This record gives sequence, C-alpha cells and structure tokens, in this order.
Amino acid sequence: MPKKVLIIGGVAGGATTAARLRRNDESANIIVFERGEYISFANCGLPYYIGGVIQNRDSLIVQTVEDMSHKFRLDIRILSEVISIDPTTKTVTVKDLKNGNDYLETYDQLVISSGSFPIKPGIPGLKDATNLFTLTKYSGLDPEMTVSNNSTSEGDRANGIDWGTYPSSRMFLVGFDISI
Ligand SMILES: Cc1cc2nc3c(=O)[nH]c(=O)nc-3n(C[C@H](O)[C@H](O)[C@H](O)COP(=O)(O)OP(=O)(O)OC[C@H]3O[C@@H](n4cnc5c(N)ncnc54)[C@H](O)[C@@H]3O)c2cc1C
Repeated sequence: MPKKVLIIGGVAGGATTAARLRRNDESANIIVFERGEYISFANCGLPYYIGGVIQNRDSLIVQTVEDMSHKFRLDIRILSEVISIDPTTKTVTVKDLKNGNDYLETYDQLVISSGSFPIKPGIPGLKDATNLFTLTKYSGLDPEMTVSNNSTSEGDRANGIDWGTYPSSRMFLVGFDISI
C-alpha cells in the first residue's frame, strides 16, 4: 500500500519537501494543500520586482502547479485551506476556497509547512493606516505596486517599517525616501 503524505503549504518548504519525498519514494501518494493561488514562488525576488530590478513578474514563479504536478507526480490543490487536523484519526479537514465546501482527507504522514505571517506593530495610528502593506506573497504585489506608483513620503515611511532593511534598500535605489 503506497504511503499517503499530506503537505500543508506549497511555497518554499512545502514544495521542496514534496520534491524530496518523491525522489525518496516513487510510489507515495503526495498531496499538497496551498491556501493561495500560487506555489513555489521566489519570495526573495519580490522586493526586486517592486524596486524595478526584475521587470518580468512571471519570472518570480519558480514552478507552476501544472509543471510541478507533472514533473513530480504530485496532487497539488491550490485555493485549499487546511482548517483542522485530527491526529487521532489521522485526518485533516480542508476548505475548498473555490466553492466553500469542506472535506476530509486521511494521511499516513503529515508535513506542516505553513510559514509565518507578518504582524503590524502596535504603534499608535499604524493600525488605521491605509498605506501600510505587508509583502510576503506573490499575490501581495498588487497593493504594493499601487502604493509605489502613488507614493507619498508617509507611504514610504510605512513601507520601511514593515519591510525591513533589505526590501527598503530596493526602494531607496529607485528613488524613494525611506525611514527605518
Ligand atoms: C520579501 C521577502 C524576501 C525574502 N528574501 C529572502 C532571501 O533573500 N533569502 C532567504 O533565505 N529568505 C528570504 N526570505 C524568506 C523566505 O522567503 C522564507 O523563509 C520562506 O518563504 C519560508 O518558507 P515556508 O515554506 O516556510 O513558508 P511560506 O513561503 O510562507 O509558505 C507557506 C505557505 O503555506 C500556506 N498556508 C499557510 N497555512 C495554510 C493552511 N492552513 N492551509 C493551506 N495552506 C496554508 C501559505 O499560504 C503559504 O503560501 C524572504 C521573504 C520575504 C517575504
């Protein structure tokens, strides 16, 4: 009986784990659940795209769902959020974000590679700012590009706080006024 492995998260850790598992076990049934629309994108390149160094947005996609599914014989389910885990029955509940339906999936082994999420610091006034964005996802590029194109010095300052020094340096190089 082939081993059934579920992986939660399909970007850096999840996609790498899936590829490695396939290399180790040709018969395993490997299912990857990704809440977002994209897998395996180059997080490290996001600031370079915002900063105009990388011009082609698609070049940030390391592997498409189609390519990776085919190459490693994976069952990759995007827009699928794991909403609960029951280790006693070895099941997860998955919400299909395309239609809102929940379903159960069993596993022999479970890999959690769900990453992290940015916090917005509790600085007075910051939580109400409409020009504060976080950049951790390929799909997060659109609001960032909007603020970049309509930038004010206040917007630049908010970006600097949340992005940290390395992405902010990209903004500096394309002429933004950055405060950290
Ligand atoms: C702007 C930026 C620049 C960076 N630059 C560098 C760099 O130069 N060098 C470097 O080494 N690192 C860099 N990093 C860090 C690196 O990208 C991360 O360490 C890496 O992406 C973490 O991988 P991960 O798979 O753990 O998490 P993620 O890449 O965050 O992937 C986790 C995925 O899990 C999904 N997920 C979460 N919960 C669920 C759920 N319940 N169900 C289904 N899916 C779920 C999320 O949607 C997400 O796509 C950078 C990060 C950012 C944001």
